[in-house]
Amino acid sequence: MDTDVLVVGAGPTGLMLANQLARRGVRALILDRHPGPSLETRALGVQARTLEIYAHLGIVERALELGKRATGANMWAQGRRAARLPLGDIGRGLSPYPFLLILGQDDNERLLGEALRDRGTAIAWNTELVGLAQEPDRVIARLKQPDGTMREVSAAWVAGCDGARSAVRELNGIAFHGAPYEHVFFVADTQMTGPMVPDELNIYLWREGFHLFFPMRGTDHWRVVGIVPPALRGHEDLTLDALMPSIRQEAGSGLSLQGCSWFSTYRIHHRRAERFRDRRCFLLGDAAHIHSPVGAQGMNTGLQDAYNLGWKLALVVSGGARAALLDSYEIERIPVAQRLLRTTDQGFSLVVSDSRLAGLFRTRVAPRLLALAMRLERVQRLAFRTISQTGIAYPTSPLSQTLPGLPDAAPRAGDRFPWLRLTFSADGPAEDVFGRLDDTRFTLIVIGQPVPPGGVPGLGDLLRTLVVPSGPANDRELTRARIPRPAFYLLRPDGHVGLAGTRLEGAALARYVSERL
Ligand SMILES: Cc1cc2nc3c(=O)[nH]c(=O)nc-3n(C[C@H](O)[C@H](O)[C@H](O)COP(=O)(O)OP(=O)(O)OC[C@H]3O[C@@H](n4cnc5c(N)ncnc54)[C@H](O)[C@@H]3O)c2cc1C
Repeated sequence: MDTDVLVVGAGPTGLMLANQLARRGVRALILDRHPGPSLETRALGVQARTLEIYAHLGIVERALELGKRATGANMWAQGRRAARLPLGDIGRGLSPYPFLLILGQDDNERLLGEALRDRGTAIAWNTELVGLAQEPDRVIARLKQPDGTMREVSAAWVAGCDGARSAVRELNGIAFHGAPYEHVFFVADTQMTGPMVPDELNIYLWREGFHLFFPMRGTDHWRVVGIVPPALRGHEDLTLDALMPSIRQEAGSGLSLQGCSWFSTYRIHHRRAERFRDRRCFLLGDAAHIHSPVGAQGMNTGLQDAYNLGWKLALVVSGGARAALLDSYEIERIPVAQRLLRTTDQGFSLVVSDSRLAGLFRTRVAPRLLALAMRLERVQRLAFRTISQTGIAYPTSPLSQTLPGLPDAAPRAGDRFPWLRLTFSADGPAEDVFGRLDDTRFTLIVIGQPVPPGGVPGLGDLLRTLVVPSGPANDRELTRARIPRPAFYLLRPDGHVGLAGTRLEGAALARYVSERL
């Protein structure tokens, strides 16, 4: 076997997967048909869940330094600022990163690429996957090399992180159901001055659509996104200059364009692969699902796919788990993609619908309604959990087991374990629980009870145990998270709860491990 895992595609998804594999000592080959990293900004929003993962990868500080925190979104209608939604830290208490970070995809790829290089893995650029043959114990991949010659590589597993036109998906004959939206989008990275509130999102809602101004790094740098107005649809070689009158119409005549470093128009599709796996091949990121950019979810969802599959592949390759563990990848991630397509479709229809009623709703009702709703803490928290991807859970996964006795309101199997500040010794300081998790291992969190002796058979070195002693500070924090005492949580390496219950019994843990790994 030439390699354990062949990662096809060095976009954000492939880079995340290769990093997760490298950290766990898995032999992986990552290749990309392009000559080098993409220089296009494309995605701009980095969600809290991604930042939590970046912390484990050791790149969060750099990402925070390079990016800008989104502090608010201003909604403009008919030339006036109709509402402002405060976004500063709407996820306070829910994540160490309670905000949306604005950081371009190119910067994300650079940080992930540097982390990969530091772990000793080089990307094979200019190398294209052109053929695949699946055998019972391996996949033979046919690669076109930089000099045009062909080479065959055998791999135990193949990860298709090769984007919307995925060769891995097509070579396996997996259908990509869905359709293009009828609207054509434009995107422009500009230098502009105007009425926009600096450093914040500015959303111009108009009867026939919307424009969105995203603040970028540097002074007066804005990413402008919108749909091409009906009068300009179908025009070949459309330029930003041609669009400026319609942008000015909504954003005001005070808008002045000083420069544009990137302009592109594109049609968005909403599609999902019928399956995310064919025997030894997996699909992740845009290869598995594409949708409208509403909600800044695309890049982040690909990164989460990779985080979900990475630890499972590593465990199977090292012999620490049976191959059946890999079945849980699509069982867990297809519902996430389905929900994403549904919600982004609904959001998108609302912002682009040509109907008069939708236009009125967009310009008159939506800004006020949203501003009012976002004053409610419950709405803020729900919005944060949904958009930040910290609320993603796998309750029906075969890896999720909640034992009887745990109250309904407590975190349950499948949930991402909540972010808490706890003390781990009687007079110790309160610590960030996520800082204590090692995401290359399972973590057993034992609350208000002694740890049974002997560890967990089958996990050995792969298990870390954190004991949470009773005390007023811990009790307050656990009550906030609705965690009863006693309780225990066995966390998977990706921070999701595998097994949860009240009274900890060694036999239940041992059974969980022997049946599921
Ligand atoms: C104009 C534009 C704006 C966008 N804006 C946003 C946004 O605001 N927010 C958001 O979340 N998302 C946005 N997206 C989507 C986001 O860019 C994608 O979700 C993200 O790039 C997906 O990452 P990926 O790694 O899965 O795929 P990609 O980034 O597409 O990477 C796939 C890689 O695979 C390589 N590859 C393909 N085929 C082969 C092959 N046969 N052999 C070898 N290599 C191959 C490609 O060269 C590429 O480098 C935008 C996309 C576009 C096009």
